[in-house]
Amino acid sequence: MIIAGLQKTTLIDYPGKIACVVFLAGCNFRCNWCYSSELVLPLKIVNQPRFSEKEFFDFLRERQGLLEGVVVCGGEPTINKDLPQFLAKIKNLGFAIKLDTNGSNPQILKDLVDTKLIDYVAMDIKTSPDSEIYKNIMQEGIKMEDIKESAGFLKQGNVDWEFRTTAVNTIHTKEDFQKIAQWIGGPNVKYYLQNFRPEKTIDPEFEKIKPFETKFLEEVVKEISPHFKLCQLR
Ligand code: SF4
Repeated sequence: MIIAGLQKTTLIDYPGKIACVVFLAGCNFRCNWCYSSELVLPLKIVNQPRFSEKEFFDFLRERQGLLEGVVVCGGEPTINKDLPQFLAKIKNLGFAIKLDTNGSNPQILKDLVDTKLIDYVAMDIKTSPDSEIYKNIMQEGIKMEDIKESAGFLKQGNVDWEFRTTAVNTIHTKEDFQKIAQWIGGPNVKYYLQNFRPEKTIDPEFEKIKPFETKFLEEVVKEISPHFKLCQLR
């Protein structure tokens, strides 16, 4: 795995915990609106500064007792074969782990939960399940069934989790959010919407897109809230 970034402290990325964020390079999606192109596109990844595992774990040892958790994100962390060993080392130092994922590897997700290597999962829901956009962004033979399987597994409640969507004007319509709510909704489900920021996107055309009006997203949240235990705009 390539450790391509480290945010030393965050109070907002791991619900209820003071954490750091480690960024693993590489992704099996190509969301045009993604603003982590340096963690996704191979030509950009090669120019990223890297941290060795030793540097990362030395940092964690120094923060024992100060930080409570580690957010593992990407890119898409589950594409790394050595992810379980990496997580086990973090766990052995006493940190709780939050995994950010696009849901493309349901079996790995299940294994990580079963082996208690992760404590919290944030799964991105890109758009409605019947949208062509999902098909267009998924690479490497990933199927919509994989995404549905991950979402269905999380809804069984074997691990604390949330679903979230970056709401992108021109990509999403109100109808998409209604379809998402019908798909992933449930009495035990937390769902967050976050407005898109037009900055350094994979497709430069998306940098010209105006984010949704906050008022529009608040209306969406109000409309779909009955499908969820909690639905909020972040
Ligand atoms: S938004 Fe997430 S899943 Fe999509 S390309 Fe970027 S890192 Fe990958």
